[in-house]
Amino acid sequence: GKGLAVFTSGGDSQGMNAAVRSVVRMGIYLGCKVYFIREGYQGMVDGGDNIEEANWSSVSSIIHKGGTIIGSARCMDFMQKEGRLKAANNLVSRGITNLVVIGGDGSLTGANLFRQEWSNLLDELLENNKITKDQREKYKYLHIAGLVGSIDNDFCGTDMTIGTDSALHRIIEAIDAIVSTAYSHQRTFIMEVMGRHCGYLALVAALASEADQVFIPEDPVPNNWVEKLCKRLQQERKSGQRLNIIIVAEGAIDREGKPITAELVKKVVVDNLQQDTRITVLGHVQRGGSPSAFDRILGCRMGAEAVMALMEATPETEPCVVSLDGNQAVRLPLMECVRRTKAVAQAMADKNWELAVQLRGRS
Ligand code: ADP
Repeated sequence: GKGLAVFTSGGDSQGMNAAVRSVVRMGIYLGCKVYFIREGYQGMVDGGDNIEEANWSSVSSIIHKGGTIIGSARCMDFMQKEGRLKAANNLVSRGITNLVVIGGDGSLTGANLFRQEWSNLLDELLENNKITKDQREKYKYLHIAGLVGSIDNDFCGTDMTIGTDSALHRIIEAIDAIVSTAYSHQRTFIMEVMGRHCGYLALVAALASEADQVFIPEDPVPNNWVEKLCKRLQQERKSGQRLNIIIVAEGAIDREGKPITAELVKKVVVDNLQQDTRITVLGHVQRGGSPSAFDRILGCRMGAEAVMALMEATPETEPCVVSLDGNQAVRLPLMECVRRTKAVAQAMADKNWELAVQLRGRS
């Protein structure tokens, strides 16, 4: 059977295990020899025990677990050609020419580069007598399928990334818990949520929790935000509300691009309204815990689709990323999505928020 390997890379997220499980089982079902690569690209470069053949039962009882059981890492070696040469040698020696990479845009970019270089890497390995002529010929094509695992939902081309829904559940649970204590003491709570440069988690968490205010990177606050915020909070209290909830995305900024932090918002509320105000930074709690049903199913569907894409690939097939479009798992050109994702980051850096939002929307 064809050699196929799956690995997780970059930041972890809930639902990655469901994807790993699905890749392994679909691969075995279709007659592949399936391998785990542990610790992301580092395991691919280091080889040895890091690359292990998987069987049907090695992915039993993992679908409900958060994080990634095969480990994830950031890897400097893979950024260098030397590292990628070692990685190629480790794959060829095991007959692996199909890769499912589960990670963010950095990990997908690395995979694409690897594929572009593959032919040259094999030539070099042949020259150095690391592989045989037969191996050079037999394994001349490398096929790549990507899945996006990230709680941030910051990748262009997919409606949801694997992990976002679970993180949202965790955030909502935390807000609900905070609301009950805030109510007792008539407090104002400022909750900082993750998302890097993407305000998705903050925005939908605010909607789902009846927050009074949300600060997100894509919609920087106008100069008079302090007055507007204070007016709104006061109004809510006057109308009988015993608490206020304010959600701050970790990447929130004002129109000059200066960060709007939970500390800053607290100072504004305390100085102007003298409300009893507390900050809760949710941090890595959002990335932990068991995956939601949605993320489990998403991981399953995407993993299966990725394996099918690899099995149908011809030498000309470009790397794809499996995305959710509406309720359909679809294959999109990997590098086009990565380029769009990077263009969003650039537009945000250029303070062109309208363009950023437009680029992030559906194509
Ligand atoms: P994410 O995949 O979550 O965006 P990173 O950007 O940290 O996370 O990328 C994860 C790993 O992918 C890096 O540590 C590196 O090993 C690999 N990688 C990222 N970008 C590249 C690149 N341009 N070339 C080669 N490898 C890369």
